[in-house]
Amino acid sequence: MIVPRLIERKRDGKRLEDAEWRELVQAYAAGDVPDYQMSALLMAIFFRGLDSGEMNALTDSMIASGERLDLSHLPVPRLDKHSTGGVGDKVSLIIAPLIASLGAAVPMMSGRGLGHTGGTLDKLESIPGFRTDLSLDSARRQIDLIGCAMIGQTAEIAPADGKLYALRDATATVEVIPLIAASIMSKKLAEGLTGLVLDVKRGSGAFIPDAERGVALAGAMIELGAARGCPVVALLTAMDRPLGFACGNALEVREAIDALRGEGPPDLMHVTFALGAEMLMLGGNASTAEDAWESMLSAITSGRAIEKFAEIIEAQGGDPRILDDQSRLPSAPHTAWFEAASSGFVAEVSPRAVGYGIISLGGGRRTMEDTVDAGVGFIIACKPGERVSAGDRLATIHARDADGIEKGRRVLVEAIVIGDGPVEPLDLVSRRITGTENAVWNRPNLRPR
Ligand code: URA
Repeated sequence: MIVPRLIERKRDGKRLEDAEWRELVQAYAAGDVPDYQMSALLMAIFFRGLDSGEMNALTDSMIASGERLDLSHLPVPRLDKHSTGGVGDKVSLIIAPLIASLGAAVPMMSGRGLGHTGGTLDKLESIPGFRTDLSLDSARRQIDLIGCAMIGQTAEIAPADGKLYALRDATATVEVIPLIAASIMSKKLAEGLTGLVLDVKRGSGAFIPDAERGVALAGAMIELGAARGCPVVALLTAMDRPLGFACGNALEVREAIDALRGEGPPDLMHVTFALGAEMLMLGGNASTAEDAWESMLSAITSGRAIEKFAEIIEAQGGDPRILDDQSRLPSAPHTAWFEAASSGFVAEVSPRAVGYGIISLGGGRRTMEDTVDAGVGFIIACKPGERVSAGDRLATIHARDADGIEKGRRVLVEAIVIGDGPVEPLDLVSRRITGTENAVWNRPNLRPR
């Protein structure tokens, strides 16, 4: 294999063959192809794209670079949910125990904060003692015992993707639909799932803001799953404002606990139930969305869902007492209200500004080596479209010190825009995409009570 010839062909808009992808990915994972050559190839891909055959070959090569989680001995469906990333998105913390409490196996593999978005691993690690770095063997044993493990991408799963993803992040070549699809699906397919639900975000806070491109991304991932025996359903959901009220690691864990007690914010419960219903239907645990909705409500009201979260926390070394005593979670020593400067309608709550604001308070990483201050963040109580009066309390800032409070204030002045007239935010769930349909999501009767 002569790598410059491959770069040259891609640069000139030609395709690479399956065997070439296999050899290239293998050699890159083994350290036999230098980053500078891979970076040049990635930039050529950024401009020229990949066809479906190349995306499939890349996915298979990345899966083959590692091991798979073999859960085929389990007599129950094996389900996961993946979000393309957002701000305030703590759905994974709720949906994993919720769906596991209803009898499915949930081998949930999540990531860390990326760009302005938060990461499930960082949120989980704000629980004292919680470990996300389980080996595949430990994860398998835990799933056998309690039906769920919430882990990070280990060195065992698709290691070629881990290396390639870091390079894409450093070379501004992340936003390529077939590369994103291959990257996400190589990890998800290695989990040995029988069904996957994708939460594809749209709106100003999404990595791919445009709905049409979001649908194309969903289609690419559905195609990859279908070809490998894993049915995939995608919902297109809103990320033009943060999801729920809490934004920041430990604050989001608190809100997820409230949600597991049935006391979560309506928008968060709505998106969680919409995605959860798709998981239960894919797994055959419910035959209709209405049945699924009822089952989830009963898992929450009976306490089964929060008990499952306690089991997961305990199994992964965390302190389950946080569920009854939230003062055991990290918190920020300084808090302050943020008030509306004028009267009108909330025109925008910018997820990007809020997400980068959390990082500026120390709640996210600027470099991979940064440590995360789990207690800081914002509780943003207002939503686009709401009428507010000057002096209304719109948000609370949680910061390490007085300087952080001032920073937080500047963040919110930029993030929360008040205008003169009403605005129409994006529908929380707008489309449902499967291998055969791309339809308006329309389940008006399904609202969390
Ligand atoms: N998440 C991933 O795992 N990969 C991507 O390429 C983008 C988001």
